[in-house]
Amino acid sequence: MSIKTYKDFLREIFPQYEQVRKVSLNAGFSCPNLDGTIGTGGCAYCNNSSFSPVAATEQSLLEQLEAGIKNVKKKKKEIGILAYFQSYTNTHATVQKLRDVFTPVISHSDVAGIAVGTRPDCLPSQVVELLAELNKTKPVIVEIGVQTANNETLKNINRNHTAECARNAALLCKNSGLAITAHIIIGLPGEDINDFANTAKLVKDCGFSAIKIHPLHIVKGTRFAEEYQKGEIKLLSLEEYSKAAAEVIRIISPGTAIERISAESPSDMLIAPAWSGERDKIWKLIYC
Ligand code: SF4
Repeated sequence: MSIKTYKDFLREIFPQYEQVRKVSLNAGFSCPNLDGTIGTGGCAYCNNSSFSPVAATEQSLLEQLEAGIKNVKKKKKEIGILAYFQSYTNTHATVQKLRDVFTPVISHSDVAGIAVGTRPDCLPSQVVELLAELNKTKPVIVEIGVQTANNETLKNINRNHTAECARNAALLCKNSGLAITAHIIIGLPGEDINDFANTAKLVKDCGFSAIKIHPLHIVKGTRFAEEYQKGEIKLLSLEEYSKAAAEVIRIISPGTAIERISAESPSDMLIAPAWSGERDKIWKLIYC
C-alpha cells in the first residue's frame, strides 16, 4: 500500500520550506451547533478542550501566534508556520469579520499559510470566495468536519448537517482552488466496516488532499461520556480500529495524505479507550 504522508503534502504546497509546523490558534469564534444558531447541545462526542490546546486561552490572536512562532522556532529558525485556526468553527462569522481575523495572520512574515477548521454548513460561497482570495497570497487549507457519510449517524451524533452538505462544501472549496482536509471518525455507534468504507469513498470522490482519521474516543463533559458510562456505547478494540483504518487508507491512497491516525486527548479528560493516542501501535498494526 503506497501511503502519502502529511509531510509529502506540505512539501507539495510549501516547496520553498524545508519544514512546516502548525501553530494552533483560537480566534474567539463560536460554533453554530453550540451557540443556538442551529443547535445548543453540540456534537455528542465534542468537548473542545480535549482536542484544542488553545481552546481556553486568554491571549489575543496575535499573542498566541507570536508565542507559537517563538516556541516552534526555538528548535529551527527556517521553519515555516502554518497558522491553524483550530478551536470551534472558524468560518462562523460575517465575511468582513473573517477578513479582519485572517488577514493579519496570513500577512505575518513568518506565516507560510493558514489552515482553517470548520463545519461543512459554514462554508457559503461568499466565505469560500474570501478563502480563495487569500489563497492567492499564501496557501489556505480548509479542514472540514465530515465525520461520516452516514446520514443516520450524523443525526444520532447531533451534527446537524448531512453528508451531502459535506460533499457540496468540499467540492466548492476544491473547485475554488483550495486544499481541503477531511476529519473523520471511525467507530461511531451503529457503524461497521461498510460505513467506514463509504466515508472513505466520499473523501476520495471529493478530492480531499489530506485526512485526519480519529478513533471514536470518549472524553468527559460530553453526551457520549454519559452514554458510555451507562454501557450504551461499545468502542472498537485497537485491533478492530487499525483494521478499519487500514481499509480507509487503502481506499483513499495514494491521493490523500494521512495527517492523523490517532486521537491524543489530555489524560484527565480521556475516559476510553486508553489506546486512542497510541499512534505508533496503530501504524504497526496497519502495516501488518
Ligand atoms: S465538534 Fe465542532 S461542530 Fe461539533 S459541537 Fe464541537 S465545535 Fe461544534
